[in-house]
Amino acid sequence: IIMITCAENTKNNTSDYKDKNAPIEDRIEHLISLMTLDEKIMQMNQWTYGKNANPNNIGEKMREVSPEIGSLLYRSTNPEYRNQIQKKAMTESRLGIPIIFGFDAIHGYRTIFPIPLAQASSWNTELVRESSAITAKESWLSGLDWTFSPMVDVARDARWGRVSEGYGEDTYANSAFAVAAVQGYQGSNLNEKYTIAACLKHFIGYSLSEGGRDYHYSDVSNQTLWETFMPPFEAGVNAGAATLMSGFNDISGIPASANHYTLTEVLKEKWKHDGFVVSDWGSVRNLVEQSVAKDLKEATQKAFMAGIEMDMVDNAYVDYLPELVAEGKVPMESIDEAVRRILRVKMKLGLFENPYVDVVSEEERYLLPEYLEVAEELASESFVLLKNENETLPITSKYKNLAIIGPMVKDSVHIMGFWEGMGRPEDVKTIYEGLEKEFKNKATLNYALGCDYDGDDTSGFDAALQAANNSDAIVLFLGEKRHWSGENGSRSTIALPKIQEDLVAALRKTNKPIILMLSSGRPLELIRLEKMADAIVEIWQPGTMAGPAVAGLLSGRHNPSGKLPMTFPQTTGQIPIYYNMRQAARPTLGHYQDIPRDPLYWFGHGLSYTTYDYSAIKLSSKKITKDQTLIAEVEVTNSGNLDGKESVLWFLKDPFASISRPIKELKHFEKKSIKAGEKVVYRFEIKPERDLSFVDSQGNRHLESGDFYVIINDQKVHFELVE
Ligand code: BGC
Repeated sequence: IIMITCAENTKNNTSDYKDKNAPIEDRIEHLISLMTLDEKIMQMNQWTYGKNANPNNIGEKMREVSPEIGSLLYRSTNPEYRNQIQKKAMTESRLGIPIIFGFDAIHGYRTIFPIPLAQASSWNTELVRESSAITAKESWLSGLDWTFSPMVDVARDARWGRVSEGYGEDTYANSAFAVAAVQGYQGSNLNEKYTIAACLKHFIGYSLSEGGRDYHYSDVSNQTLWETFMPPFEAGVNAGAATLMSGFNDISGIPASANHYTLTEVLKEKWKHDGFVVSDWGSVRNLVEQSVAKDLKEATQKAFMAGIEMDMVDNAYVDYLPELVAEGKVPMESIDEAVRRILRVKMKLGLFENPYVDVVSEEERYLLPEYLEVAEELASESFVLLKNENETLPITSKYKNLAIIGPMVKDSVHIMGFWEGMGRPEDVKTIYEGLEKEFKNKATLNYALGCDYDGDDTSGFDAALQAANNSDAIVLFLGEKRHWSGENGSRSTIALPKIQEDLVAALRKTNKPIILMLSSGRPLELIRLEKMADAIVEIWQPGTMAGPAVAGLLSGRHNPSGKLPMTFPQTTGQIPIYYNMRQAARPTLGHYQDIPRDPLYWFGHGLSYTTYDYSAIKLSSKKITKDQTLIAEVEVTNSGNLDGKESVLWFLKDPFASISRPIKELKHFEKKSIKAGEKVVYRFEIKPERDLSFVDSQGNRHLESGDFYVIINDQKVHFELVE
């Protein structure tokens, strides 16, 4: 007995938390054994300087912070401030625990990539991974360890502004891009330089905020929660996402930031996530507004006991956890477990050994040529050619004079979209600059503003009409301002403001072809505009390389390959409408009297300058058992004259099951280059357990034998799962 005790003691004594060669879990236990309650609680606090502080001059402000603080929400491009603050934590805190610095680098840090919704339109997970890795590198070199990204809230209500921040309406797409983003940010080892921790958000159900009003409650059935909303988070957790953020919404009456079921039973117990959860900005305090806590103290208890380890900016944990522990309302074991999770992420990031970031010049840090190349590629692959009558696009020598009209043409702010990180307008290549370069000696550009984004000033219409009359075609750039989407960027209608629609109508009278280029953070209502335009392209909010990417699309240097990750309804009133609706009682009957039954453009819609011919889908067998893999293949021929990239979206349909299933569900996608005249084979290996099963309202998977269909475009091929 004595020997065993000695051995245990020896083990504890040698696992010094500062020993980088000791196992992480031992180091954590050692450190926790040395910490006071106050020190533990400080680890759970994320502090920030005031929202209006100048990010380029926050050194002093940041120095006010206690060296014992666990995390800082840090918005500055100055890595030296970070290092100074970190030095304070390392040398002036009693135990020398490093701070974790977090920030919203959502679609870029200084090099701004297209908004996530646009990234999803590219269907190019590899480019999304690469852009996230670049974001991580720029962020790390600016002093960050952690980004509050990716947002993987499946979004089906385009009125909700935050649809711009996620990957659209489909569960599988959100899962695939969640994995790509996590891999990009975190690399293969968080311990390495230039990698940062990812944060899956907003756990969970936030995108269902009623009526698309931000910060509202959401009502979600357990079935939908498991079927639609959980999988992207689970995929991100399995990909190793170090952290999650809880949402502002509630889930059938229990706030997401006080939800023991989702935060603990699902995330920690079922999925075995070993990192930590941070509340959203003020979401602990919001529990009082949500009327589940009578004051901030009770809110603290509820949030903490539900499973939120870190309190973003409320200071509630610091203020109330000590007394809650003293009163026995919060057990010490729970405090230790929360700290353990935070320390684990810090250890994995290697912060104890390497608390400081490298300080290199801004030229070496930001906007490197290879970063801009990826930014242009991702932007151009995200553009969706919605309509192209009579091959209006690309602009060839048939058009010598181009009217370039609209508020977006010379814009360098809105084109970056919401959450532009530390992106600067002066770094943006505007559409006008891009066009000037692209069409130099090829076409004359007649520019006119036309109108502003909003308002009723039509005084620019005449100049626009004149430019149009002097040209062979009109390229009209319309759309949304950056804050019309993003956080609290909800809109009651997703149509363009009247002034912009009026401009299109006025220009239509010239009888010149109209190429409508739309920049927005959401699907738009195009019911009136669609008829007036010969070609329509959704360019979303493309970021730093907007100009060259857009110009390349217009000239044909870039062949469009984007496909919609979110359905464009006929009108706002048709929302919610998404492709994977459950099978309805009278599917062909239920519709509104005043608009067509189908949306204007379904999920997956997107044209190209070339044509692709699909072979019949070939299946390796017509019947499989649950342990077999079914191989589905389709051969795609580029039958046009231009090289291109084609994404094949593979859907499955389960026509009968014990729970009503969606009309069809995306289960696999792949994008490949196909040269003009060439054929390429796409393949989908259907694994029954993974692809044919479905969840019930408790999250349990069921695999039921019977009929299934593989679907691509208009093709639907039957197969059977047999016992
Ligand atoms: C947003 C989060 C964001 C956080 C920190 C909140 O208001 O909802 O998505 O990460 O602020 O900036």
